[in-house]
Amino acid sequence: MKTVHLPTLKTARGQPSRTQPLRRRAGALAAVALQGLLVAGALWWSASSHAADLTPLEQRWVDGMSPVIREARSSGLPLDVAVRPQASPDDSPVALGFVKGRCKLVLSLRGNPEGQAVLDRMPQGLEQPALELMAAHELGHCRRYLDGAWFGLPAGFSPGQMPDGLSPELQEAYRSMKSTRREEGYGDLVALAWIRQQHGERYAQLHAWLVSERRRDYVPGDHHDTLAWLQLARDPAALGQGSIFEAARPIWERALQSDE
Ligand SMILES: [Zn+2]
Repeated sequence: MKTVHLPTLKTARGQPSRTQPLRRRAGALAAVALQGLLVAGALWWSASSHAADLTPLEQRWVDGMSPVIREARSSGLPLDVAVRPQASPDDSPVALGFVKGRCKLVLSLRGNPEGQAVLDRMPQGLEQPALELMAAHELGHCRRYLDGAWFGLPAGFSPGQMPDGLSPELQEAYRSMKSTRREEGYGDLVALAWIRQQHGERYAQLHAWLVSERRRDYVPGDHHDTLAWLQLARDPAALGQGSIFEAARPIWERALQSDE
């Protein structure tokens, strides 16, 4: 999602675990400290219990994302859900963090109009699968972190040509932008793979909604320009077989071939 963007946690396997910032978009560090979060465990996901201190909007998001969370946990992904209790007007409603070897799905909905606005933009009647799509996107980031592959290219790929004349600082920004976009593309494909598996009859509508979200405030080639991947995934048959992570890979690599 444009605003359900990616965290730029630089931690991958093997790096010291510490609190990491989340970033709404490049150049706008939100300085979110995970230490200040309410971190919820499996209790949230049991059928009969709900966290007493969630707002109705948070409960809506938690309920909507729960099928993905349950599936992730049952497949062994170390995934926690966290809620920012303080107002977060400029943050993504949902993002992923990575702390001490575990993925943190972070909801930033208090004092954040985007939390309701995203719901309002979803296709009517498809809010539930759309929330699942958003959670599955973050799972794609989680998998890449856990694999120690964050910002990395698959085997056989090498970074494309750097534009001429960039200062060292701009070169670093360019590399970061391309790496981020690559991860966003992977996350979107994992999300669509989930939709194909779980809500195949609604794939076309949810794909179209995802494209429309990515076109909001569209800047070609920026961090969230995943349209090259989304175009290749218009036909769900183009996705691969296996897990949602495996299914994302053929299209992801196809678009990378022209991007790198
Ligand atoms: Zn993302």
